[in-house]
Amino acid sequence: MKLLLASRNAKKLGELRRILAFEGLEGIEVLGLSDVPEFPEAPETEPTFEGNALLKARDAFNATGLPSVADDSGIAIDALNGMPGVLSARWSGRHGDDLANLELVLGQLRDVPDERRGAAFVCTAALVGPDGLEVVVRGEWRGEITREPRGANGFGYDPIFRPEGHEVTSAELTPEEKDKLSHRGRALRLLLPELRKLNAGS
Ligand code: IMP
Repeated sequence: MKLLLASRNAKKLGELRRILAFEGLEGIEVLGLSDVPEFPEAPETEPTFEGNALLKARDAFNATGLPSVADDSGIAIDALNGMPGVLSARWSGRHGDDLANLELVLGQLRDVPDERRGAAFVCTAALVGPDGLEVVVRGEWRGEITREPRGANGFGYDPIFRPEGHEVTSAELTPEEKDKLSHRGRALRLLLPELRKLNAGS
């Protein structure tokens, strides 16, 4: 079965492929947006992660006819009342400027004491397929915001996120360690029962 992950991010594609392989789900070929003919992609305009993920997965399924998974993710910081949330990728005003986003957060939290630096990475994943199939799941990964960046793996806010129960930031974990714990790993694993059914029926 072909499964479209509505993303151009090679790291996300790699993560989904590793999870499927690790869970023994064979016969699913994961394609990314660069592997299918281009179609107009709606901007992420919804106020919730769920809304954005569903929007992207519906677009992808309607354009290609392939069962499609889309995700939307970000970081929700307790001391900022859950922000940056859906604005995580453009918190500093420049979409995708990871360093500026992370530095802005560190500045905003400079006077916040250690015991109030809790945060969660959040990922919602939507699967849209034939016969009206629409499933949306949510994975969360709790931790705290550090006082300075550490580590070179990962992306986004990884260098300033220390997962619960760990002394290192998520940018100091290997990709395999991060998959097992991460919000995206958790959300994608919640889709496995539906993916198994789809794969069995294909
Ligand atoms: P999107 O889901 O690709 O729109 O990503 C939203 C933004 O959330 C990213 O640009 C990052 O800033 C942040 N983010 C989401 N997941 C992670 C993660 O695993 N590590 C670090 N930052 C993340």
